[in-house]
Amino acid sequence: MSKASSLYIHIPFCKKLCGYCDFFKSISLAKLPEVLVRTAEEMRERAPMLAGTVLKTIYFGGGTPTVCSPEELGSLIALAGEIFGTSEVEEITVEANPDDLTEEYLVGLRRVGVNRLSVGIQSFRDEDLVMMNRRHTAEEAVAAIERARKAGFDNISIDLIYGLPTATLEDWRANVRRAIALGVEHISAYHLTIEENTIFGKKGVTTAPEELSDEEFAVLCEELRGAGYQHYEISNFALPNRRSKHNSAYWKSTPYLGLGAGAHSFDGAYTRSWNLPSIAKYLEGAPAECETLSLQERYEEVVMVSLRTVEGVDLRLLEEWFGVAKRVEFERIAESFLGCGVLRKMGDFVAFSEEHWLISDSVIAEFFG
Ligand code: SF4
Repeated sequence: MSKASSLYIHIPFCKKLCGYCDFFKSISLAKLPEVLVRTAEEMRERAPMLAGTVLKTIYFGGGTPTVCSPEELGSLIALAGEIFGTSEVEEITVEANPDDLTEEYLVGLRRVGVNRLSVGIQSFRDEDLVMMNRRHTAEEAVAAIERARKAGFDNISIDLIYGLPTATLEDWRANVRRAIALGVEHISAYHLTIEENTIFGKKGVTTAPEELSDEEFAVLCEELRGAGYQHYEISNFALPNRRSKHNSAYWKSTPYLGLGAGAHSFDGAYTRSWNLPSIAKYLEGAPAECETLSLQERYEEVVMVSLRTVEGVDLRLLEEWFGVAKRVEFERIAESFLGCGVLRKMGDFVAFSEEHWLISDSVIAEFFG
């Protein structure tokens, strides 16, 4: 059976800068048409990377992919069909800004084969949205989800941000309940981080106090569990059978090809590559940079990524990929965290207990000395 693979297409353009964002993007759309032409060329050039695999997911991320028309996204999907074949593709996701999702636009996305939306809502409170410099209001976000339903989307994810300096615990609880009431199939919730090079960083905005963030995480878990969502990765919750197939593939070391300025690729073994985060260099055809990971580096990646998932580290796979000595080393360090309940063991899997996920970074660091 051929190995599964994924395709990621980065659209590095936005109409407005959000205060917290440090993703690579441009707010001038002038180069968008040229970038789309180059992305199609890059897909042809780098197709050999996925030779012998079966494409299962396509993901348009950004930036804001919904700055493209459905036809522009559709032509890249059609090209992927020509090059890789899309008969086995199960999920085609487009990250979307709520205010781009008109009825006509949504119908257009359905027509070109998009079957999943990941909508950047961030908060259902206008005060938070203004503070974050988002383009939409809470009401517009709710209306966009309702229009997406009417257009036939039955697999919708939304992003929310907690740890905001403008929200109380009860505001956050109301946010989570609003998301549940919308009935979306998937929720990604991220803690606000402040990077120096962002608008927030320059303005000296701070996150909520750590204690409040911890309580918000607990409320998030409790409310979503009560509503039937499975907490399947530290920042991701899904209704049954609605996990993100694309992101799950990343966490399972599936090979993926990333197209577009700043996009990353992985061969499923030891080689990672990435395009420079520069639209000018991308249009010049600059080749992707490349690195071959050592066994130790790959081991650390696998442990780190697996411990962020509900299933955790698969000890048998660890042994198969990195040898028995690495499994023994992992189990020896895991022992003390199992004893105090921070980690839990189920058969051959070692995972975090949900309430300890927030301290995962410091625990994971212990595995690598
Ligand atoms: S829309 Fe997304 S990528 Fe663009 S600035 Fe906002 S958070 Fe960043």
